[in-house]
Amino acid sequence: AKDGGRGAACFFEPGMDATLRERHALEQDLRAAVASGGFQLHYQPLFSMPEREICGYEALLRWTRPLRGPTPPNDFIPLAEETGLIVPIGAWVLHAACRDAVSWADDRKISVNLSPGEFKRGDIVATVASALAESGLPPRRLELEVTERLLLEDTDAVLSKLQQLRAFGCSIAMDDFGTGYSSLGYLWRFPFDRIKIDRSFVSEMAYDAKAAAIVDTVLSLGRALNLEVTAEGVETEHQAAALNALGCGEAQGYLLGRPRSATEMDPCPPPPLAA
Ligand code: C2E
Ligand code: CA
Ligand code: CA
Ligand code: CA
Repeated sequence: AKDGGRGAACFFEPGMDATLRERHALEQDLRAAVASGGFQLHYQPLFSMPEREICGYEALLRWTRPLRGPTPPNDFIPLAEETGLIVPIGAWVLHAACRDAVSWADDRKISVNLSPGEFKRGDIVATVASALAESGLPPRRLELEVTERLLLEDTDAVLSKLQQLRAFGCSIAMDDFGTGYSSLGYLWRFPFDRIKIDRSFVSEMAYDAKAAAIVDTVLSLGRALNLEVTAEGVETEHQAAALNALGCGEAQGYLLGRPRSATEMDPCPPPPLAA
C-alpha cells in the first residue's frame, strides 16, 4: 500500500490538510483564550434526594470561540490534553471555581473536573493548594472529579497525588462510572468518596431493565463500600422517582437544575447597613 498508494494519498491529502488546519486553528484560539482569560464557568446544582435540596455545584467550563461561538468542552478538551494547554486551563478553572464558591452565601461544596493531563503534565497538588490558599475556600468544600481514564497508567504516582489531595481535606469523586474500564479494583485501591453514575445508565433505566439493574448495583456497591453515589443526567420525573425508589442519595440533571453562569448565582447578601 505504501508505494502503490500515490493516487490514494493524493485523494486523501486535501481532507487531511483541512483537518490539520482546523486543529492548528483550534490550538491557536485555545492559546489566545488561555492568554487573555477567554473562558467562563457555569455551575450546575447537585441535589440531595429525595429532598431535592441543593447540596453543591459542579463547575463546567464554557468557551465562546472567536468567530465560531459557543464551543462545548468535549470539542476542545481533547486537544487541550494533547497540547498540554489543559494545565493552564485547569489551573484557571480551579482558581475561578474556588473564588466563586467563596463569594456565594452558602457553604455548599464545589465540584471541579480534573483531566489526566493535569496529573501527568502539571503539578495538580500544588495547583489545588494554591487555589485553596488564594481563595480561602475551606478544603472540605472542594470535591475533585476524575474519570477511570486517569487510573489506567502510572497508578502509583496518581494514587500518591490523590492521597495528598485528600489529605488537604478535599473529597474525590469517580466521574462517569460505568463507561470506562470500570474495575472494582479502582474503588478499592484509590481513595474515593463518591461515585457518579454515568448519564447513559440513568437515561435508559426507565426503559431498559439492564440499565436499571446496573444503577441498582452501583447504589448497592456504594452502600457496601461506604461511598456516596450521585446519579447524573436526571431529565424526567420518572427517572427521579426510580432513583428515589432505589435509595439514591444525590442527583444532578436538567430536571432538577441546569448549569448557569456565575453572575446568575446568588452572591453573598450585602452587609447590613450601619444604623
Ligand atoms: P461531565 O463531567 O460528565 O459533566 C456533565 C455534563 O453533562 C455537562 O456537559 C452537563 O452540562 C451535562 N448535563 C448535565 N445534566 C444533564 C442532563 O440532564 N442531560 C444531559 N443530556 N446532559 C446533562 P458539558 O458542560 O458539555 O461538559 C462535558 C464534559 O466536559 C464534562 O462531562 C467533563 O468531562 C468535561 N468538562 C467540563 N468542564 C470541565 C473542566 O472544567 N475541566 C475538565 N477537565 N473537564 C471539563
Ligand atoms: Ca463531572
Ligand atoms: Ca460525569
Ligand atoms: Ca458524563
